[in-house]
Amino acid sequence: RAKRDGRNALRFFTGEMQAQSVRALTLENALRRALEREQLALHYQPQVELLSGRVIGAEALLRWCHPELGAISPTEFIPVAESCGLILPIGEWVLRSAVQQLRRWMDAGLGELTMAVNLSSVQFRHADLPALVSRILDEAGVPARLLELELTEGVAMVDPLGAIAVMNDLHARGIRLSIDDFGTGYSSLSYLKKFRVYKLKIDQSFVRDLTDDPEDRAIVSAIISMAGSLGLQTIAEGVETVGQLAYLRERGCTEVQGYHFSRPLAAADFESYVRGGSRG
Ligand code: C2E
Ligand code: MG
Ligand code: MG
Ligand code: MG
Repeated sequence: RAKRDGRNALRFFTGEMQAQSVRALTLENALRRALEREQLALHYQPQVELLSGRVIGAEALLRWCHPELGAISPTEFIPVAESCGLILPIGEWVLRSAVQQLRRWMDAGLGELTMAVNLSSVQFRHADLPALVSRILDEAGVPARLLELELTEGVAMVDPLGAIAVMNDLHARGIRLSIDDFGTGYSSLSYLKKFRVYKLKIDQSFVRDLTDDPEDRAIVSAIISMAGSLGLQTIAEGVETVGQLAYLRERGCTEVQGYHFSRPLAAADFESYVRGGSRG
């Protein structure tokens, strides 16, 4: 009896795995043509300075709309792109498009904004990354200090010494690094001392229940004060309510980002949003 149940469970399991790998293969094939068919786009989410309420930057977030499959989340297709190597051309397209958009906003008189771009660990480990980023900035005539590369804690896991070398190289070129989803990865805090990090992005999972979860409040408070002592900036992700905002302000968080201010926007809508003035 137990044996039969076990076999059924196994069959169910493999059936589900099969469906998942079919989906991954479908996405992989569609993704190969996504760039040339212009199905990829960037949306931009405002980043707001907490004290002044001013928009001081944008995070570029990749969007893929396939004619038959519809809109596919980056949380689904980025891992597919990483496993088949497509993340390198796609990641380069993201970097170039975001930096060129920043140039257009500078020319349109939007003021000095920063542009944050998410980087896959596959891109980070690729030998040409620092030179590629410099080339893209030079081509667009954008100062390096306006670009922030968002990395997750995992990038340093495989090869910490290699990661330090890349970070030093990017730092020497004036490019800033922030740690995305901070607090959710596996890493030792000592890397904050060794790594050239500029900003910590407090993960939205700590922000979500900030108004009534004492543990989340303690964690967020500790991250902000530790960052302050180390001379790092902090930005809270996923800010949706005034209650969350009030707590972050009280603890001295420097920047905020989330639906309370705006969802990620198409470039033209981002521009209107910035011209609309300050908020918070
Ligand atoms: P992330 O970099 O941590 O981005 C934050 C995610 O939270 C985004 O989802 C954003 O739309 C969403 N978000 C922002 N504010 C709020 C809020 O107030 N509430 C809630 N519930 N969510 C909020 P998105 O755009 O679906 O991106 C998901 C992840 O996909 C990103 O997480 C990032 O890891 C990855 N990703 C997106 N674009 C790129 C890219 O160009 N390259 C790479 N390598 N990864 C990317
Ligand atoms: Mg990010
Ligand atoms: Mg994040
Ligand atoms: Mg994330």
